[in-house]
Amino acid sequence: MILTSKTAVVTGSTSGIGLAYARAFAKEGANVVINGFGKPEDIEKERAGIEAEFGVKAVYSPADLTKPGEIEGLIRLGADSFGSVDVLVNNAGVQHVAPIEEFPPEKWEQIISLNLSSAFYTMRAAIPGMKQRGWGRIINTASAHSMVASPYKSAYVAAKHGLVGLTKTAALELATHGITVNCISPGYVWTPLVESQIPDTMKARGMTEDEVINEVLLKAQPTKAFVTIDQVAALAVFLASDAASQITGANMAMDGGWTAQ
Ligand code: NAD
Repeated sequence: MILTSKTAVVTGSTSGIGLAYARAFAKEGANVVINGFGKPEDIEKERAGIEAEFGVKAVYSPADLTKPGEIEGLIRLGADSFGSVDVLVNNAGVQHVAPIEEFPPEKWEQIISLNLSSAFYTMRAAIPGMKQRGWGRIINTASAHSMVASPYKSAYVAAKHGLVGLTKTAALELATHGITVNCISPGYVWTPLVESQIPDTMKARGMTEDEVINEVLLKAQPTKAFVTIDQVAALAVFLASDAASQITGANMAMDGGWTAQ
């Protein structure tokens, strides 16, 4: 176990990739702070399940990461509950699919604040403690859309490209402090986020569900298969290990060859 007595804060970890990260870090011995929305009974089941299955402590923060004031409380919960925040995973994200001229401004603002600005605020709050201890891992979930664009995803593509710039800057600032900062950029991973954008894509492109899956989503991915949440989480665990201490400022693709094209 590589993270015994360490603490991992994972944003957007009530579902999908974030939940897989939280479970993978707990499996490595970390206490975890989970965050995100959902039915209280479902969240409590996941939280208690992590404690029972992996023998660590797990706490839940309902912080809305579009609200900077609530983000400080999320990091403080980790530090107050477990004494430190050693691994920070910025993962919460949403998507909206529409042509620019029809893109609702409030959706633009929500996506930029959640998918990009929240990572600035979590890092701003977590970095002083990491610097003090001379060790830290910051892992940002970007996307293949941090390297290439797709039509109708203006806010998402802009936010993910921005997240890579923030990651590189932080990596340089923290390079001599034992803190690495990297992005993981998955291609299409089968999660509620992907499932929920299918109806909008059907509307925007005038396609059936099968056409969206095969001609839009998997069309981009040469392997013609979805990435799994466990594969993404395994890369995050590797980035948190000592073997990865010289990987910083990187944007690591896990996209079935999508961005090789
Ligand atoms: P998901 O919808 O399953 O999970 C998103 C999480 O974010 C949930 O826990 C949700 O409650 C939380 N969340 C939403 N709004 C929030 C807010 N305001 N404050 C706090 N938490 C909030 O999505 P996912 O597919 O697991 O995506 C996770 C990350 O991975 C996102 O950043 C996404 O852009 C990225 N990503 C996903 C894919 C994919 O194919 N699924 C591909 C590349 C990148």
